Amino acid sequence: MHAPTPSVEPQTAQTDRDHGGFAGHPRGLSMLYYAEMWERFSYYGMRALLLLFMIAPLTMGGLGFDQKFAAQIYGNYTMASYMVCILGGYLADNFLGARRAVLIGGLIITAGHYCLAFASIPTFYAGLILIALGTGLLKPSISTLVGGLYSPEDTRRDAGFSLFYMGINLGAFAAPLVVGWLAQSDQFKTLLTGWGFDPLHSWHWGFAAAGVGMTIGMGVYLRRLHWLAHIGQAPATGTPRPWDRLALVAIGTAALLGVMIASDYFPWINPLVYALPIVGVIYFGVLKKDPDSHRIAAILVFFICAIIFWAVFEQAGSSLTLFADELTRNETFGYAFPSSWFQSVNSLFVIALAPLFAWLWVRLRERQPSIPMKFFWGLVFLGLSFALLVPAAQLTAAGKVSPWWLVGVYFLQTIGELCLSPVGLSAMSKLAPAKLAGLVMGIWFLGSALGNKLAGVLAGSFDAKDPLALANFFWNQALLVGGMSLLLLILVPWVRRLTGEQATTD
Ligand code: GLU
Repeated sequence: MHAPTPSVEPQTAQTDRDHGGFAGHPRGLSMLYYAEMWERFSYYGMRALLLLFMIAPLTMGGLGFDQKFAAQIYGNYTMASYMVCILGGYLADNFLGARRAVLIGGLIITAGHYCLAFASIPTFYAGLILIALGTGLLKPSISTLVGGLYSPEDTRRDAGFSLFYMGINLGAFAAPLVVGWLAQSDQFKTLLTGWGFDPLHSWHWGFAAAGVGMTIGMGVYLRRLHWLAHIGQAPATGTPRPWDRLALVAIGTAALLGVMIASDYFPWINPLVYALPIVGVIYFGVLKKDPDSHRIAAILVFFICAIIFWAVFEQAGSSLTLFADELTRNETFGYAFPSSWFQSVNSLFVIALAPLFAWLWVRLRERQPSIPMKFFWGLVFLGLSFALLVPAAQLTAAGKVSPWWLVGVYFLQTIGELCLSPVGLSAMSKLAPAKLAGLVMGIWFLGSALGNKLAGVLAGSFDAKDPLALANFFWNQALLVGGMSLLLLILVPWVRRLTGEQATTD
């Protein structure tokens, strides 16, 4: 099939007709898939090293930071890179257009990774700031572009996002292995010595590899940019640019970031921030009566679910890693493996299951569950994963437990993730008014930012030494997620009406 001709027909007609890509999807999907795969390769590759690099002593080529300080930088950096998506989305909507936002964001990220390739403190901080800013520009826009490939009625949309999500996880899976090998393995250090380089700089070779990944991603993107000619354009020349509002969004984002960083010292800030979207749902969903407000209320409901979901899910890097490290027998079929390998299990399951979900959504077409119902299942499976940890925690009283407990936990979490995360991206791209597509995607990622932050707070009460307390720790969170899913189940018909969906299968 030939590329749709941009200026002749309305976008909807073009997108509906484009079946020329992988598995009957628009061909733009494959190039966005590969571009995002490499971007995530760079993001997760660098993230896998970041904390270790900061706490490694100077004599090992690290920065020699104190662990608590390093953890704070790590937490705030990951939060910032998702929070800046609000600003990035707004810029894309009103100034740059999503296609150019991805390009500029990608270039900024690439520059950031290459900064980290140099061994100095100023280039270290400059690198982190550049990557966070670039990610804020790229991440919401690339997701908006995927949404733009499908018309609102197109039943392939959720399936397309499931495939896109598979690309994300291919990058996330491969990156720690490649980048970690460069930065930490003795083999690569020996190679460096042989080439006449300082082996203590192996960290920076790892960071540079992340930069190379990002460069490849940008190459793929630029080569096939013409496939996206019909979507993601900048507002027409002559359209007044809202500089004053841009300043407000920038100040608002910076203020929120400041408030969330301050919440480390003033924990009472947290409930105030997390209560705000609830007020928003009541205001837009109950007090206001127009369809646009109702869609905003629905978006906020999904946003609240996303915060809860990521707050529990993102403990993979904290509570579950500690569980793997201290309480799990890390060997199977007589083969011992490092606890960090559990970090790849989720990505592996996504890669295996995402095509299945993509097939399922296409197969069910109009009969597929509604968006809130998929969110409900996402929360149910997440809750079940933490419920499964309750007997596992109790068994730790008798010693280390089998690694299959955690494999089961990650399996359940991945099913939950595939019901919620790609569906959330898809829902944002569908529900957002065209002019606010980037901003709304930014709000979705703000959910990830706040969820990640809350994950850190929750993980603070993890106690590996007391099996009973540990079982309660997991049970309480399973109850929280279970309660949230029940509430959502009750609200499903209302949320469907807010989204404008007609009742079908639920
Ligand atoms: N694994 C997903 C990604 O990196 C998670 C995104 C999110 O937190 O919303 O894209």
